[in-house]
Order: sequence, then C-alpha cells, then structure tokens
Amino acid sequence: MCQNSYAPEGPYVFRNGDHKDQTTEELLLKDPESLICLYKRIKKNSRPESHRNQLEKHLDWLMKKLEEIQSHNLCPYCKKKNIVFLAEVGPSRDSSFLPGVTCCEDEECKERLLRGFPSADLIRISVFSLSNFRGQRKKEFLKILKKKLNLPERLTSEAIFRWLNRKPISASLEGEQWVIDL
Ligand SMILES: [Zn+2]
Repeated sequence: MCQNSYAPEGPYVFRNGDHKDQTTEELLLKDPESLICLYKRIKKNSRPESHRNQLEKHLDWLMKKLEEIQSHNLCPYCKKKNIVFLAEVGPSRDSSFLPGVTCCEDEECKERLLRGFPSADLIRISVFSLSNFRGQRKKEFLKILKKKLNLPERLTSEAIFRWLNRKPISASLEGEQWVIDL
C-alpha cells in the first residue's frame, strides 16, 4: 500500500470527547498545544499503518502538511532560504514583535540578526508558537502569522483545510525586511 495514500477531502470533525463537533483544523489555530498533546497521546499507542483510525491518519497528514508550510519570504541575510524566525524585543510582559526582522534557521543568519538586535528573542514563525502568547499578544502574533504564512483572512475550518492542502509557493524577498549588519 502506498504510504501517502491518505488524501482527505475536508477537515476532520471530532464525533465525541472534549472537542466534540470541532475540527482538527479549528483546534490547530485555537489551541495548538492541545492538538499536539492529543497527537502525542495517539502516537504513543500508534498502530500499524493499515490499522490507523481516521483521526490518526488525518493528524499524520496535517502534521506533515504543517512541516511543509514555510513563509514565502526569503532570509534577508543569506537570501537563499525561507525565513523561519522573527524577532521579539523588550521585557517579557511588554515586548513587541518585529515582523520585519526575520531570518532563516542557519546559525550564521541568526547570529547576524542578533548582532543587530542583541536583546531580541527569536520566535519560530509557526502556528505552534501561538501557544506562547495570550490575549492581545496572541491576536497580534496571529495577525503576523497570517501575513507570513499566507493564512486565510477568515479562519474557518474549510479555509484552514484548504490552506494546509495547497501547493507550496516559491520564496521571494519582501520589501519590509530589515537587515542591520554591524
Ligand atoms: Zn539565512
């Protein structure tokens, strides 16, 4: 049997349990942490491929798709790879995101960014980073994610599903990216 034969036609709807009537797609943006916990729990008792239930298959598919999703912006330092991190500066409770200060995952590019912004923290541009923030800051980060990852404006289950299922697009440099090289 082909390993990648699972190709869902729509979001997965929980039939029972804590998330009854919600979809995995919805949960991914509302509460990514609990989706990860659920996935880890399922994987602990994982069955052979041919015996996996619909939820496990769907989550395997969803996690794989998420791994493939990258920002379409190129790293302003090496100009070769897609950006993976953005900077956050300031004291923890009162910090600001710098959506224009970004880099790829290469150590060299990270170091160059941090030379220009020594007090910055690097945040992964991923829906899973949403778990790090609450309230207004979470909303703000989601807004940045929407732009960086081309998320749909209205985050309905269907729209998120289509976003996961789309073909990757090629990267390009974006106008507002800043490089401060010392
Ligand atoms: Zn780079």
